[in-house]
Amino acid sequence: RPPMPRPRETRIFVVANQKGGVGKTTTTVNVAAALAQLGQRVLVIDLDPQGNASTALNVDHRRGTPSTYDAIVDGRPLVEIATPCPDVDNLWVVPSTIDLAGAEIELVSVVARESRLRKAIVAHPLVGADAGEERFDYVLIDCPPSLGLLTLNALVAGEEMMIPIQAEYYALEGLGQLLETVDMVRAHLNPDLAVSTILITMYDARTRLSAGVADEVRDHFGDQVLKTAIPRSVRVSEAPSYAQTVMTYDPGSPGALSYLEAAREIAQRGVTA
Ligand code: ADP
Ligand code: MG
Repeated sequence: RPPMPRPRETRIFVVANQKGGVGKTTTTVNVAAALAQLGQRVLVIDLDPQGNASTALNVDHRRGTPSTYDAIVDGRPLVEIATPCPDVDNLWVVPSTIDLAGAEIELVSVVARESRLRKAIVAHPLVGADAGEERFDYVLIDCPPSLGLLTLNALVAGEEMMIPIQAEYYALEGLGQLLETVDMVRAHLNPDLAVSTILITMYDARTRLSAGVADEVRDHFGDQVLKTAIPRSVRVSEAPSYAQTVMTYDPGSPGALSYLEAAREIAQRGVTA
């Protein structure tokens, strides 16, 4: 296959869904690693105090490590915080430490509290159309499972939303609330925000339930849904316990190949919504 062309400017994705356990973090780290393997320059911002994305990408996130918290609460430049993923070329990470759990409260009294992350990202010298050859092609923000101030910061900072939907019972439940929040953000804080990408995760081809949920999601969201669904796979869920993404843990596995295909789709289609 020919090398993947780079976008003309940095594409900023918010990976969000207020439900926990739907595959946000798994999708963030694996799409990021897959894009990086396709020659794209990628920055992952871990915005979940749990730090699961930091763990999977094998970067330090003990208390005291420069982190997302320092960027959004203290205004420390992201360029001082981002650290290379030791296992994947072209991939950088802004880790999260548990301090971020307090940020939801601490930010309440801060000026422009909902645009702290946007400010930090825009100020990064490698973000934007004018950033030159070294620029980041993709920034992926891994959100916590809530619609609080942290997720709001991501929605204000991003241009494209990626919503992972687990092919399970109640998959669509709660999505109404998420989409209302997106509308609110678009109306008042960030008119550029678009739901560009829906990804079906933990798809089990053997069950009618999975197929039914996938049909329902495609009926509802149409072209926003990637053609590639991510299969449920033990290899995907094992990888983080080895501080790896499935892209390096088992590159030939169905989960890794699906994430690679999803990354190709994302890179090829650009902004569609
Ligand atoms: P979230 O970030 O939305 O809370 P995670 O990405 O942490 O969700 O995924 C929740 C759990 O499901 C994790 O234990 C993860 O390893 C597992 N998981 C995610 N995707 C898959 C998959 N395709 N196959 C099997 N397990 C998966
Ligand atoms: Mg997560």
